[in-house]
Amino acid sequence: MRLPGGLVEGDTRRRDWAFRPVSGELELAVAEAGEASATMPLAVTRALAVALRHLAGVAPNETRVADLCVGDRQFLMRELDRHLGSEGGWFEADCPQCGQRFDFEVAYADLPVQEAGPGFPCARVDMEGRQFRFRLPTGADQQGLTAQPEARAHAWLLGRLIQEGDLPEVPGQDLIAAAEGALESIAPGIVSKVQAACPSCGTINEVELDPYRVLSRRTDSLLQEVHQIALHYHWSEADILRLPRPRRLQYLRLIDRARGMAA
Ligand SMILES: [Zn+2]
Repeated sequence: MRLPGGLVEGDTRRRDWAFRPVSGELELAVAEAGEASATMPLAVTRALAVALRHLAGVAPNETRVADLCVGDRQFLMRELDRHLGSEGGWFEADCPQCGQRFDFEVAYADLPVQEAGPGFPCARVDMEGRQFRFRLPTGADQQGLTAQPEARAHAWLLGRLIQEGDLPEVPGQDLIAAAEGALESIAPGIVSKVQAACPSCGTINEVELDPYRVLSRRTDSLLQEVHQIALHYHWSEADILRLPRPRRLQYLRLIDRARGMAA
């Protein structure tokens, strides 16, 4: 499936992408991006830069991944979760009605993907005779936003997104709302809200799915597997991590079988 948005360079919009095959190296890099990055946008950029084999026509780097719009990044992070073996599964939410925490199940394959609207990645705003053109925010914008004080965040972001028009030094709420609405109407993306019934009180809640859930993967069980193979075959950590995952699992089964015979 192509990127719902893509990278626009000159007159060309490129939407192709592919992940690297799953190996321990890739699984470890994704888990470590989640554990070690200072902010969420940075973690997403690092994880995608190692996971992608190509992006919009070329080999990716962190700058190019950060230039993707937020919807494309969320789409790719959910696809990365699938690539690493999760087709969805159980999510948690707090019921706003009764306060109980509850689990609900989601299959990623059932969730639609929204394609970008006309004019992507830019949207026009016409306000009392003044014309503006804004582009959609990217990962780089999200990363920059983490360093802004909250009171200035909207004005700072609009200043980055403006492509045409004279932005007032302090943009009014009406302009901010109009820009947000126009951008939302063309934004590509994944469904991040689903309906889920609270099992305690029966209320149907609209709950948020974490699009970056793949970052909560931990390294423990992978390192345990590397440890077992290293003990048995005396291969180096790097060699074991480079094995495609199906082969790593096959060696683990062989080790188990050898143990069974010895017992
Ligand atoms: Zn409830």
